[in-house]
Amino acid sequence: MISSRNRGKIREFAQLLEPHAITILTAEQCGLQPVEETGRTFAENAGLKARAAAGIAGMPAISDDSGLEVEALDGQPGIDTANWAETPQGRNYVVAMTRVWKLLEELGAPHPRRARFHSTICVAWPDGHEDYFTGNANGHLVWPMRGETGFGFDPMFVPEGHTSTFGEMPHSLKNRISHRARALAALSRACLDG
Ligand code: IMP
Repeated sequence: MISSRNRGKIREFAQLLEPHAITILTAEQCGLQPVEETGRTFAENAGLKARAAAGIAGMPAISDDSGLEVEALDGQPGIDTANWAETPQGRNYVVAMTRVWKLLEELGAPHPRRARFHSTICVAWPDGHEDYFTGNANGHLVWPMRGETGFGFDPMFVPEGHTSTFGEMPHSLKNRISHRARALAALSRACLDG
């Protein structure tokens, strides 16, 4: 089970896990209520989400806690990435990306404006034990936003070694180089392969 309601993340998990003969259920399909992310680290929040899901579903649950860490902002928004998109009308990532870029402009941050996406994946097993895996994607931020294929902060993030943003790339390319792909590759090596 994937302990997430984020459609972008669920789509990526489904594509990344496709080679493994695993049936995926989402938090919504299992009737899991949204989990309050009260942790102060990616691992704490990933653990909270995966444990809640494994407890309810009685099957292994995978969660991902991820975020964007901007070097010139001392790693912000980091674990608060989703909160930066909150508006009275719901999450709005254009608002969040504009906020990040405005702060960088106010600081006069030098180019390239380095940032990385981080993902911590937790697997909670029905017997109570947990495994954690991490992945990073380094890159820099650009403005204006570019591309429609991704989600969240994808349109302003250009990964190292590329000229397209995550929002301009085909899913198949992002899924080879993303933070989530790297964390999931570590999970596969430890738990699924062989
Ligand atoms: P959480 O893991 O549910 O707390 O939220 C992660 C936040 O980081 C969300 O706001 C996502 O949109 C953002 N995020 C995580 N991974 C990605 C990604 O691959 N692309 C764009 N934004 C991402």
